[in-house]
Amino acid sequence: MQVFTCPFCGPRDETEFHFAAEAGKERPQPAEETSDADWADYLYFNDAPRGPAREVWVHVTCGEFFLMTRDTVTRAVSEVAPLPGRGE
Ligand SMILES: [Zn+2]
Repeated sequence: MQVFTCPFCGPRDETEFHFAAEAGKERPQPAEETSDADWADYLYFNDAPRGPAREVWVHVTCGEFFLMTRDTVTRAVSEVAPLPGRGE
């Protein structure tokens, strides 16, 4: 079992968190001119790098989304931070 740290609540059991998205993905614009294939690529396909990855996670208990940088090989978390504009 791993412990993740919510920037708002502090350390909690990993079962309280869910992966939400890769951080920094560009939403296709304009939406009404985006093809189904481009939407599918944006919604369902991730880079899934080996090593450090910057991701958006949600702490289900408080409902807050935040940034987590973790190593996908070692599972070590190097940074957690609120999403830009959310503050701490
Ligand atoms: Zn929380």
